[in-house]
Amino acid sequence: TEDADRALAMRSLCSIAAILSEHRDELTKLDMPIGDSDHGINMDRGFKAVVDLLPSLEDASASEILKRAARAVISHVGGSSGPLYGVVLRKLSAAVRREGALSIQSLADGLEAGLAGIEELAGGSPGDKTMIDAMVPAIESLKQSLASGIDAQEALQLAADAADGGAEATIPLIARKGRASYLGERSVGHKDPGAASFALCMAALAHSA
Ligand code: ADP
Ligand code: MG
Ligand code: MG
Repeated sequence: TEDADRALAMRSLCSIAAILSEHRDELTKLDMPIGDSDHGINMDRGFKAVVDLLPSLEDASASEILKRAARAVISHVGGSSGPLYGVVLRKLSAAVRREGALSIQSLADGLEAGLAGIEELAGGSPGDKTMIDAMVPAIESLKQSLASGIDAQEALQLAADAADGGAEATIPLIARKGRASYLGERSVGHKDPGAASFALCMAALAHSA
């Protein structure tokens, strides 16, 4: 129902904000050797702004909540991850509006559209050592779960595990996009911070469903 979806959207965003806050220093440390040491600070600031917004959205639909969250993230994150996470939230909002419900289907469709949005906005592709490398396996996992018909909780946990595997798999890659790409081969041996934060967001969804 509308009310259940609104509550789930709010709970999910709060859960994402909590996990990003808890892992803020770890994400910032990942951004130290291959970036500018701000990813955890950026993400924590952005999603704190989202949580601050929620009390004013009591009457909003789940889709509207996601749209407002996108705007808050874009205006508060500051780093290049702001517009990238912003486009993902905007596409999730559109998928939920189109499909009329928050579901594994709308999550899979929204993330897939968000991935296309990131590729269009920032020109990255799979294998470039970015958040895309955590998104692709998560989307694939959600699609497989939809095909096999397992329940939502299990589907979210599998997708979170897949995202985590994708983030780990960025370690040996040479960065081709973002600040880490300035380091070329010296970026090898470090996990991409954006892939790590995306995996944390998926873990938060698995915990809040
Ligand atoms: P900044 O690099 O501006 O300081 P952040 O540190 O908050 O921004 O975010 C860095 C993360 O953003 C990277 O780890 C990467 O996952 C993601 N990112 C940066 N550029 C791109 C891009 N062109 N395509 C996809 N993801 C990108
Ligand atoms: Mg940074
Ligand atoms: Mg920065």
